[in-house]
Amino acid sequence: MSQEKKLPSVGFIGLGAMGVPMAKRVAEAGYPLTVLDADAGRTEKVAADISASAASSAAELGKNCQIVVTMLPTSDIVSEVLFGENGLADSLAPGSIVIDMTSGSPTKTQAIASALARSSIALCDAPVSGGVPRAKTGELAIMLGGDADTIETIRPLVSSMGTSLTVVGGVGSAHAMKALNNLVSAGGFLIGMEALLIGSRFGLSPETMVEVLNASTGMNNSTQKKFKQFVLSRKFDAGFGLDLMVKDLGIALEVASQTDTTTPFSSLCFEIWSAARKTLGPGQDHTAVARFQELIAGSEVNND
Ligand code: NDP
Repeated sequence: MSQEKKLPSVGFIGLGAMGVPMAKRVAEAGYPLTVLDADAGRTEKVAADISASAASSAAELGKNCQIVVTMLPTSDIVSEVLFGENGLADSLAPGSIVIDMTSGSPTKTQAIASALARSSIALCDAPVSGGVPRAKTGELAIMLGGDADTIETIRPLVSSMGTSLTVVGGVGSAHAMKALNNLVSAGGFLIGMEALLIGSRFGLSPETMVEVLNASTGMNNSTQKKFKQFVLSRKFDAGFGLDLMVKDLGIALEVASQTDTTTPFSSLCFEIWSAARKTLGPGQDHTAVARFQELIAGSEVNND
């Protein structure tokens, strides 16, 4: 008689735009799940919505979990959740695994992994790409950094959230890769938007320009999935914060500096996104950078 293998107990910390749909996928895959967010009301609500247990602190969550996923804004917050007061590291048993799915800093992640290793706790960095829509369908692209055995142990769990899993190297390497992905994405947005601004002033229709770009070599993720949906519609609500994009670009430049790579284009890209954040203020969606580009161009893309 075959006996079903018992799934490990999982904790999920950080129930924001991405964390909620990702935790839901984990619950639906049958893992016994405990969740936690900085906002206690949100923790209770999400736990009830996805049939998970709610924890009141990271230390409490760690007592019941063999694997813990963090999906938090920054590596500094991951560190605080692990090693701060009532931290996760206080209660996780030796042999447990932390999967940091935050878009984090490679050097900070390596330092966190070394500190956890002293308590025989393993860490993998597993940042994601694909945004809220692909988090909802469980079709995220997931980059994996860590030792091979740990990655194989977490593969079934991670597969509940993503369909494209790529092992990129040791701990921290996936966080480096993720920042580089967002650097390319951020640059593609800016140049595409500048093309729309120039074309609008020339008299071209923005909708037509997006269609032509998408049928031609100028196509990129922003022309396909952002310009019509969030810029021309003036909705500016893709679900990924401007603050988070600036953070990711800062990480990419940190890696450039550590590797002594001269990157004038990337530096300019970072400067433009940072200036947009300063000008537009906190709490904006990243697609609102288009409004900053319109401001410095002196016109809007859809002003016919
Ligand atoms: P959000 O800001 O929407 O969510 C982060 C969540 O973490 C919030 O609910 C926040 O609560 C909570 N939080 C903050 N501090 C703590 C803490 N100390 N303990 C417990 N919970 C805490 O971010 P996203 O979900 O958008 O992004 C999460 C990570 O994923 C980021 O690193 C981001 O760069 C990355 N990412 C985001 C994508 C997107 O499309 N949104 C796509 C791919 C990666 P509160 O709001 O109360 O502070």
